Amino acid sequence: MSAIELHLPDEDATTAFGQRLAATLPDGLVAFLYGDLGAGKTTFARAFLRALGVGERVKSPTYSLVEGYDLPDRRAFHLDLYRIADPGELEWLGLDGLAEPGAIVLVEWPERGAGALPPVDVELHFRHERDGRAVRLEPRSERGRRLTRQLAAI
Ligand code: ADP
Ligand code: MG
Repeated sequence: MSAIELHLPDEDATTAFGQRLAATLPDGLVAFLYGDLGAGKTTFARAFLRALGVGERVKSPTYSLVEGYDLPDRRAFHLDLYRIADPGELEWLGLDGLAEPGAIVLVEWPERGAGALPPVDVELHFRHERDGRAVRLEPRSERGRRLTRQLAAI
């Protein structure tokens, strides 16, 4: 399965995409979220985490760099590395849980954590497109390819 591309004409479409990805989630997942400021990464992450059962508790990791959530059957992590000075900073955050096979890990600005993050399953490249946004999914592992196939089939 190669990359798939989706048009997200308004914020509701970004939210629906997050919900759809959460609904097709097999087990654990490591997703890297690329894109400029305002491209829709946090909107997507919030919808995705809410759909997994985090509810209204979703916080922004803008300053904390990471927020963790205990779900009934697994843990979820939302990272935003925009403000990180050096990938070495991640070591001090006690992120051992990121490497658990069943963990759900969403990373905004993953390029700033190079070398300190678990292997990626799927890359999501968000971008501005006229008044809306677009996103390209690029699978990077067997788990990522399964997920992309499922999304393409709906
Ligand atoms: P990022 O985390 O990539 O910096 P955000 O998710 O914070 O971006 O989004 C910035 C703004 O873009 C928000 O005001 C959000 O409502 C808006 N937005 C999100 N998705 C869309 C879309 N598909 N079309 C138009 N606006 C959107
Ligand atoms: Mg953001």
